Amino acid sequence: MKPFYYTDHLKEVLTVWKALEQAKHVDGQLLQKLIKRSPLSNQTLLSKTDLITAYKQLAGTHGLKPYNEALVKKIMMKPTRTISGVAPVTVLTKPFPCPGKCIFCPNDIRMPKSYMSDEPGAQRAERNYFDPYLQTYNRLNALSVMGHPVDKVELIILGGTWSYYPESYQIWFIKECFRALNEFGFRDDRTKVRSYYRQKQHEFEAREQLYLTDDPKENAKRFEKLQVHGEELTKRYNQVVSEVYTAPERKLGLDRYQSATWDELTAQQKINETGEVRNVGLVIETRPDNISKEEVIRVRKLGCTKTQIGVQSLQDSVLAKNHRGHDVAATRHAFKLLRQAGFKIHAHWMANLYGSDPALDKKDYELLFSDPDFHPDELKIYPCSLIESAELMQYYQAGKWQPYTHQQLLDVLSHVLLATSPYCRLTRVIRDIPSTDIVVGNKKTNFRQIAEAHLEKLGQHSHDIRAREIRGEKFDPKYIKLKTVTYQTSVAEEQFLQYVVPTARGEKLLAFLRLSLPKQPGFIDELKGSAIIREVHVYGPALKIGAKAKKHAQHLGLGTRLMAEAKKRARKQGFKRLSVISAIGTREYYRKKGFSDGQLYQHMGL
Ligand code: SF4
Repeated sequence: MKPFYYTDHLKEVLTVWKALEQAKHVDGQLLQKLIKRSPLSNQTLLSKTDLITAYKQLAGTHGLKPYNEALVKKIMMKPTRTISGVAPVTVLTKPFPCPGKCIFCPNDIRMPKSYMSDEPGAQRAERNYFDPYLQTYNRLNALSVMGHPVDKVELIILGGTWSYYPESYQIWFIKECFRALNEFGFRDDRTKVRSYYRQKQHEFEAREQLYLTDDPKENAKRFEKLQVHGEELTKRYNQVVSEVYTAPERKLGLDRYQSATWDELTAQQKINETGEVRNVGLVIETRPDNISKEEVIRVRKLGCTKTQIGVQSLQDSVLAKNHRGHDVAATRHAFKLLRQAGFKIHAHWMANLYGSDPALDKKDYELLFSDPDFHPDELKIYPCSLIESAELMQYYQAGKWQPYTHQQLLDVLSHVLLATSPYCRLTRVIRDIPSTDIVVGNKKTNFRQIAEAHLEKLGQHSHDIRAREIRGEKFDPKYIKLKTVTYQTSVAEEQFLQYVVPTARGEKLLAFLRLSLPKQPGFIDELKGSAIIREVHVYGPALKIGAKAKKHAQHLGLGTRLMAEAKKRARKQGFKRLSVISAIGTREYYRKKGFSDGQLYQHMGL
């Protein structure tokens, strides 16, 4: 049985901490040196978060001195992770079949589809047995150990195609995430995790024995044998995963541990409404062809406020060549339904797909913002990387697909940065894949900075949300002003209300609100006749409620002012009601603002 928690890399952790304890001068540089000097057996390196979390448990034991807060502070990260005001907690679902057959998608059977076992987030998930409670609880602990407030949490659930997992698994997964938030409180109480682990030990062991032995080398060999490779796709990911995990789990009745009822979920959601660690956003990822009216209502009931959706391309020919299994019409339909239901839409788009070229990519990307059926709120850009386990390997070897050169990629990504509308947030411009996994093509994960520097030389820059976020920049509140970007989609007029302020680094964004003014009634009865607030976001480090924060956006009442403005505008356009797609942990906030609970949304008369 794998030892529980951070004793996994005990030798390396102890080596680094003992050296830190003895050093005369401790800083980030020394830490990096020590980390590099103690590589892990899987060729990766310890992360700072892991080191600090492990130290919290191990200080005073194994030859380490008692816990030294000052030492921890010296190596803590700057709080960029929560600079947008909310602590993100990413959790992965278990390996499971996916309906997609996309040729660019990795086939790592240790992971849910499309993830690779040496990505840091994926490793965290694996270390926690893909268990939602352990992943959430331990991530909260890691963030809080690093000094980040965690009273407002966005839960990001990644892995394969969410809608394809059994409903009972989905309910259980989210219920367990909520339970971890509810039980975490402000101080990590390891006894809760340990007692949970003891309860589940039998199940974890049974699961592991399905495919693991006590010998890591033997395990590596077994997986290597099972691994699906692009050049010889004798078995596909879905088939192997079904054989290795899904069928035996069912046969042994282990799936009963990963199942919950709607009532059990609702009970945890209710606790979270007034809990100490509140859920202020919940994200799932799925495919456009899995979105239907029923599915939208169902994920809303789970507490979801945002969907990550794989668009990849807006060319039917490119989608077909890459075996996406859906067309552009499906993407149009999905966007329409999600927008009518007030969801935030976080799209994934890919450059350098088989069948595309730089000129077509640039044209395709522009469509995202010029075609009224799209207009995503957030975007992840993934230029296609060649991963050995992907089917694309065969195309590469046959000379049918080539990665873009540095110059071609720079050209496309610079265009992407400039063509993004100011109401959209580019959360990623390159997928953070370990370079050892990339067979050919770009290995620079900082390509966004490269493209930004290139544009700066030309006197140009991106206007997307991320480029304009205030990020701890100093400003004078007397120069704050309200600016609106209005755009038309096929189902609504969207008003992006934003408070901006001049700073030494240009005009910066302090807060925004997405107001949707539907052109005709949608399919959700509860929203008929309503204008919809799809998102309110106020920037500033994730300050603890009540903490002093002069000149931080979160304490200038900008959220309240935006809401008053939204009411005024909706009323002016003839709406009699204003609705909000609130996250479970923001319901109480909206109640205090005068909204009352509906079934899936909250409402106020105008
Ligand atoms: S739908 Fe997504 S996860 Fe499934 S194969 Fe395609 S890219 Fe991979």
